[in-house]
Amino acid sequence: MDKCSFCGRTKKEANMLIAGLEGHICDHCIEQAYNIMNEELGLKKSTSFDSINLLKPTEIKSFLDQYVIGQDMAKKIISVAVYNHYKRLIQKPDPDDVEIEKSNIILVGETGTGKTLLAKTIAKMLHVPFTIVDATVLTEAGYVGEDIESLLTRLLQNAEYDVKAAEKGIVFIDELDKIARKEGDNPSITRDVSGEGVQQGLLKLLEGSVVNVPPQGGRKHPEQKMIPVDTKNILFICGGAFVGIEKKIAQRLNTQIIGFGASKVREKVDKNNLLKYISPQDLRAYGLIPEIIGRLPVVTHLDPLDKKALKAILTEPKNALVKQYTKLFDMDNIKLKFDKGALDFIVDKAIEYKLGARGLRSICETIMLDAMFEMPSTAKNELVITVDYASHKLERIDLKVLKAS
Ligand code: ADP
Repeated sequence: MDKCSFCGRTKKEANMLIAGLEGHICDHCIEQAYNIMNEELGLKKSTSFDSINLLKPTEIKSFLDQYVIGQDMAKKIISVAVYNHYKRLIQKPDPDDVEIEKSNIILVGETGTGKTLLAKTIAKMLHVPFTIVDATVLTEAGYVGEDIESLLTRLLQNAEYDVKAAEKGIVFIDELDKIARKEGDNPSITRDVSGEGVQQGLLKLLEGSVVNVPPQGGRKHPEQKMIPVDTKNILFICGGAFVGIEKKIAQRLNTQIIGFGASKVREKVDKNNLLKYISPQDLRAYGLIPEIIGRLPVVTHLDPLDKKALKAILTEPKNALVKQYTKLFDMDNIKLKFDKGALDFIVDKAIEYKLGARGLRSICETIMLDAMFEMPSTAKNELVITVDYASHKLERIDLKVLKAS
């Protein structure tokens, strides 16, 4: 029997089947292909990076609010920094004019609190090339000093080798804390040296200079012709958990409090969230060299995510997990609903096993797997996720395993 080679619809199920040299295509698939093509072409246009979509700081924050829950202080600070950064770009070169300095950003917060998500969302909003690089790869053998340039390879690739576009892009450097100099706590000399060496190398990128970027990355292709990239206008956003930095903050705050002799100040300090008070001094005490700190003038923190925030992450962002599953099921004409209790249950499990926001996805996937596998082949058109359903599906796995993933 003739049927669509794409979706398998038979002649009876489709309105029309068009024959090709081999196989057929139905009207549904033609329409879908047309939509995909339009979307792709539309996307290509918007990623041509010719014009930067510069919104006002309040508008930037509203955009971030659609995707990132909480973290108001970080959002506000980033909105201003990004706005000012891109204002530099439209400033006409004039030697007599005030030169606006670059505002690279450093985000300090526990893992899974939204650092990468913030950087990604900013890049999405601006339609500029974006890449995430991990500072830890730089400390691996053979990756010291000059190889730092290869951090920009991915940016160049994401900009489709449009150097001008890459020069206005955003680079998110994750795990910056891993290249901190570890005095005292870690007597390993080699590690100290490499950490500082990498920081020195990174400085070259952050301060804005023309660097030669290997288009294929690394040393694997020694023959490749380097591409010069000016980093002057690239916005660097660095992130790190800086585990234990609270101690440094507390020490500094204590000295300040004693210095002022004011017990009132002491009362006001929120001891449960010392990161709020982070300052460049603390980053220095943690082991970042002063030159690096000087090139990352915007320092901000991310709050730990509490139950309320985790629940909001499940349901509120534009692409919240619950919305994604609902959409997936809806495409099979199945009405999916989560009981309020089930949502609480998912969040409680994420907290109990210290899985954070990242764990929400793994937990949901485990709960939804059977339904996603079976339901499209059944006649059922409704599924309600209750606490019982969720806990039954989760019983099968050891949640501790998710922690490692
Ligand atoms: P980090 O970079 O701080 O380690 P990520 O930004 O990679 O964490 O967060 C991991 C995932 O958790 C994100 O992809 C997102 O789905 C979710 N998430 C974390 N924090 C938030 C938040 N504040 N708002 C919405 N989603 C979040």
